[in-house]
Amino acid sequence: MASVCLIGCGNIGSHLAMLLARLSAVLRLILVDPDTYDASNLTTQNIEQRDLDRAKAEVLAERIRRARPALHVEPLVATVEALPPGRLRGADLIVAALDGNRARQSTNQRAARFGVPYVDAGVNTHGLLARVDVYNLADSDSPCIECGWHTDDYARLAQRGPCDAPVETASTNAPSHLGALAGALAAAECARLLEQDYSMVGRQFIVSADWHRAITTSYARNPACRFDHHNWSIETLKQAPADLTLQQTFALAAGSGARSLAVESQSFATSRVCPACGREEHCLELERVVDARRCEHCGGRLRAPGFAIHETLSSTSRVSRRHAKHSLANLGLQPGDLLTIRGGASVARHFELGGHGDDT
Ligand SMILES: [Zn+2]
Ligand SMILES: [Zn+2]
Repeated sequence: MASVCLIGCGNIGSHLAMLLARLSAVLRLILVDPDTYDASNLTTQNIEQRDLDRAKAEVLAERIRRARPALHVEPLVATVEALPPGRLRGADLIVAALDGNRARQSTNQRAARFGVPYVDAGVNTHGLLARVDVYNLADSDSPCIECGWHTDDYARLAQRGPCDAPVETASTNAPSHLGALAGALAAAECARLLEQDYSMVGRQFIVSADWHRAITTSYARNPACRFDHHNWSIETLKQAPADLTLQQTFALAAGSGARSLAVESQSFATSRVCPACGREEHCLELERVVDARRCEHCGGRLRAPGFAIHETLSSTSRVSRRHAKHSLANLGLQPGDLLTIRGGASVARHFELGGHGDDT
């Protein structure tokens, strides 16, 4: 009996969720989406009038519970980038129906860390194309979605709009029947993977409802891929972020000497500035915390300047004695965040922070 995680509950996901719920092998379904349904979705997504202004993940969870009460459904109203990765742990399979490359990159990384297969579905209104790509990052020879990315793709990821929001995400506005087609293709591949049939791994299947053609393409592992593809062996901590100081966290490292701490998919900020009024102050917290802050003086959005953003925190620099006594919650870490801790030249250890009340 399997646990499946669906990321994206829109044009494709609103159809796909029900199809996944009807696979007899599926016993648990995690649904992830930050948005609510609005009136424009009535014609492009599989929803009803009464679903408007409600969180997409919750609407679909409710519908699934009505259709298959025995299924355990868990709606998570958040972007996959912001969601602590541990919340998706335990899924045997991750399925993404997303229209932004930043979210697809995060999903790809989660699947790799947990060593689970990953199905990526998409549509293109030009040619009425529905596609499904299958990856299995437990296999070191398998390609990942970033294997096919070029410098331009990464440059677009780094672009930010005037409100500091990622700009690459655009609603596809695809017709509902196209989302249903991609959803059905993805569900078929999920069923295949759940039966341990990995014959579609590293391949893409595209159907054009406009040109009446179907094409299968193979991908190769790109040795120059910017993503490391590593699967992690992750230890679960009992402690929640509030229960561990930075000093205690560094002490979890194997080996001796200087310790370093990284948080998967997050960066640390040591300064925050208000671009509107120019105020700047020192801090030590995750960049996502800074991004959510408003200036106390003018109300503008704060941001961490490039020079003050760090991938890792070292016990010998940037961490004052005062900071060492701060809890991880103080730094903005959440239950389910994944830590990588190194001591000297020793092997890194990976930990999931406890405290989200789900020990399954
Ligand atoms: Zn890759
Ligand atoms: Zn300000």
